[in-house]
Amino acid sequence: MSYRVPFVNPGEHYRRLKKEIDQALTDTLSRGDLILRSQLRDFEHNLANFVGTKHAVGVASGYHALYFSLRAAGIGPGDEVVTVGHTFVATVSAIVHAGARPVLVEVGRDFNMDPASLEAAITPRTKAILPVHLNGRVCQMDSIQRIGEKHNLVIIEDAAQAMGAEFRGKKAGSFGLAGCFSFYPLKALGGLGDGGAITTDDPQVARMVTLLRFNGEDRQTGEYHYHGYTALLDNVQAAVLDVKLRHLPQWIEHRRQIAELYREGLEGIEELSLPQFTGTEHSDSFQNYVVRTTHRDALRAFLDSCGVETLVHWPKPMWEHKGLGLADPGLPETRRICNEVLSLPMSSEITPDQVAVTVESIQEFFARQPAGTLRPAAANPGTQVKGAKN
Ligand SMILES: *Cc1c(COP(=O)(O)O)cnc(C)c1O
Repeated sequence: MSYRVPFVNPGEHYRRLKKEIDQALTDTLSRGDLILRSQLRDFEHNLANFVGTKHAVGVASGYHALYFSLRAAGIGPGDEVVTVGHTFVATVSAIVHAGARPVLVEVGRDFNMDPASLEAAITPRTKAILPVHLNGRVCQMDSIQRIGEKHNLVIIEDAAQAMGAEFRGKKAGSFGLAGCFSFYPLKALGGLGDGGAITTDDPQVARMVTLLRFNGEDRQTGEYHYHGYTALLDNVQAAVLDVKLRHLPQWIEHRRQIAELYREGLEGIEELSLPQFTGTEHSDSFQNYVVRTTHRDALRAFLDSCGVETLVHWPKPMWEHKGLGLADPGLPETRRICNEVLSLPMSSEITPDQVAVTVESIQEFFARQPAGTLRPAAANPGTQVKGAKN
């Protein structure tokens, strides 16, 4: 089905940039620059400048950025890494694959790591904190860094959803030992397929992830320093990402304007909670615009019937996916979030007219509910634990 308001619009994204992207592809391909060439180095240089770190290293995905960062930080068997239960599975899989134990904690009203839950989860085995800057909002990094220093913990940021987001004038990916980015096509800076990067000020981290991503080999000496991986950021992808990076500040500004239109249009609907982004120290990049309502599933179906495509990040707590083998960490807020969140259409292509269609459809949904029928979820706890099998 083709939506009047698609969640994202990669075809339109390409059409707008066609000339520049085609030029970059043609140049790169006709030079035969496929692996580890100047296009990758240039992009890494420009990305490090953008984020505000000394180094950036391109890898095959956001997952690889996380996994290699953990390895470079010396995280392994016997260690615990504290992260949040409300995140994409790759955050946790990277910890598991590094051989460490993921300890999942609660998020606050902003969907980001709750510093008090973090501190309560620290044990003598804790080695690292892995905060996730979700939806384009940097975590409360002052508190998290204070806790990290107090307990002598490494901080690795999952900044996959926060390219360009800032806290106190510093960009996501520049706070911890390493910042991890994803260029999955749906991300604010999206590539042609999978891709990712690690940002860091630490030359040893930069060196180790540079070796790990390409067979463990030092390309200068030919020496293999580790059993490595085949996980480079493709050179052609880097060439295209470098083109897109130049447009990114403008796209983030567009996302902020779209978020403001959503806020103006949706404010005041009692049953709908808009992003709880308080304080003046954050500059959000709005990777996603996430609303909450206990009528989420009905609202989503109604929007679908209006031609408005939405997504749910994520409908089921991670620990309920049996194959992941995670213990139930008992996070009631995270569980509630799974039942209530809805991501509205958001991209660098979405137009104010499309926002208006979305806003009007949401207003219509809530206006249609006969008086007194809203709030069943509060009266019926069964609704809240839906999805919680057993
Ligand atoms: C997208 C994403 C990742 C993983 O990125 P991939 O490039 O798909 O491996 C990790 N964490 C979060 C929060 C993400 O949104």
